[in-house]
Amino acid sequence: MVEMRKPIPVAEAVRLVMEHAAPLGTEMIGIEDAYGRVLAEPIIAKHDVPPFDRSPYDGFAIRSLDSEGASGDNRVPFSVIGEIGAGYVGDKPIGEKEAYRIMTGAQIPENADAVVMLEQTVETDDGFTLRKPFEAGENISYKGEDAKEGELLIEAGSLIHPGTIALLATFGYAEVKVAKRPIAGILSTGTELLDVADELLPGKIRNSNGPMIRAQLKRMGIDYKSYGMAADDLDACTSIVEKAIAETDLLITTGGVSVGDYDYLPAIYERLGAKVLFNKVAMRPGSVTTVAVLGNKYLFGLSGNPSACFTGFELFTRPAILAMMGGAAPYMPRMTAKLGEDFTKPNPFTRFIRATWIFTKDGIEAAPAGFNKSNAVSSIARGNCLIVLPSGTRGFVQGDEVDILLVGSEQGVSEWTL
Ligand code: AMP
Ligand code: MG
Repeated sequence: MVEMRKPIPVAEAVRLVMEHAAPLGTEMIGIEDAYGRVLAEPIIAKHDVPPFDRSPYDGFAIRSLDSEGASGDNRVPFSVIGEIGAGYVGDKPIGEKEAYRIMTGAQIPENADAVVMLEQTVETDDGFTLRKPFEAGENISYKGEDAKEGELLIEAGSLIHPGTIALLATFGYAEVKVAKRPIAGILSTGTELLDVADELLPGKIRNSNGPMIRAQLKRMGIDYKSYGMAADDLDACTSIVEKAIAETDLLITTGGVSVGDYDYLPAIYERLGAKVLFNKVAMRPGSVTTVAVLGNKYLFGLSGNPSACFTGFELFTRPAILAMMGGAAPYMPRMTAKLGEDFTKPNPFTRFIRATWIFTKDGIEAAPAGFNKSNAVSSIARGNCLIVLPSGTRGFVQGDEVDILLVGSEQGVSEWTL
């Protein structure tokens, strides 16, 4: 008997997946390895930034009161008593009508309270003259103006990107506390599968899902163990899945989750005693996407259809992995775009169309990336986003406003928005 499955909305499926994310703890790592990790501690300013008053320009440090009354007809002369390059400090306070030649980034000398830009001066034998008065504080980059000691700058749960690295370095974090990353397992099921290097044989296709998922994980900086390909054989598949889930934090399988005679994943979940969170999602492609949990481990049963497999990973696996890492922004960012061409097919389920967004003079436009069935592989290679057409709609025409989800962006958003 063919089992009847009840489709659940995508948002509900995402919620169920995320509800089961178990954090994996934290570890200290060197700043060199921190890119792409999730902060497990907030970044709190360890000192003021900048740590001293400094010059934002190359010029002269003066006492502003000495410039009072300066004008084109009444140029005020200053004598230069020394030079301060970045990294040095002045060795004496400045007195009346005295100035230090000062470089960008150098500490403001004692008594000085303004910096005159080089271009605003006319050179003299022992210094320069000024033709305008300066106010106290003019052209000074103040201690603590960027960040004050003790200030919370970046919350735990944030992705460490190159800008975050700059901040960590500023405060001397040679090491930083980050969330541990899960190790993923990948298993491609299907008796029809050949390896990438194999010649095509009758009835066979090359395994494209395995390499694709490895790349999707790599894009997230996640390590994986590859369990290769398994023929559709219940006993053999069960033992590989059992081994794989014991050795990893989550197992991604592709294929075998439909209701065909050789789709064994449902039986495998049952044998293992895994709890199936859902086995039907009201989405296309990938309605058979199944997610199960075994203890604190996930089993992602992605469809074998390449488009569906790709989409299932981005919608469910990626945010789950980020949540295991305590990531506060695990979801793909959403935007709206004008549909680039008619899409008249009905959408009984929410439809995710691999698409390309571009910026035009009329704003952002997104057009399907080509052949658009769930078994498509060519369009996955072209797109940079997913167009989302809600279930129960039909007859979209060029120019209609549609939602798009951005695929591959380094920083996500904190809420599932569809
Ligand atoms: P399944 O999900 O096992 O029913 O497979 C659905 C479709 O995807 C079938 O046409 C399979 O041949 C194809 N397929 C399954 N696994 C892969 C794979 N790893 N790479 C490419 N296509 C696949
Ligand atoms: Mg199959």
